[in-house]
Formats: sequence, C-alpha cells, structure tokens
Amino acid sequence: MKELACLKCRMLTNEKACPNDGSTELSKEWSGLIIIINVEKSQVAKTLGISKAGRYALKVA
Ligand SMILES: [Zn+2]
Repeated sequence: MKELACLKCRMLTNEKACPNDGSTELSKEWSGLIIIINVEKSQVAKTLGISKAGRYALKVA
C-alpha cells in the first residue's frame, strides 16, 4: 500500500495523521521520495525547510 504524504510538511506515513505535526490532511497524490537521515548535514533538508529526519515526498498534490 502506498504511503500518504502530509500536505503541511510532506512527511510520508501509513497512519491516519502525520507523525510530525499531527495533521490529518494527507494525500496519496505525491511523487519523488526524499529520505532525510541527518537534518544538520543535509542541504536538501535546509532547502525544503525540513527540520526532522524521516521520509518525505518531493511533491504533494
Ligand atoms: Zn506533517
């Protein structure tokens, strides 16, 4: 089953609410997988404004 992406922070989850911010606005229409392991060292995380390690969608519809 495809994971859902949070519309607020783009984190991917199999739950009914985002584990990062608790949002229930989730979408299965997303593309591009980003895995952030170390927020401090990740330029991608900085660019995207991600502040917590995890798996994220690049684009969420
Ligand atoms: Zn979220």
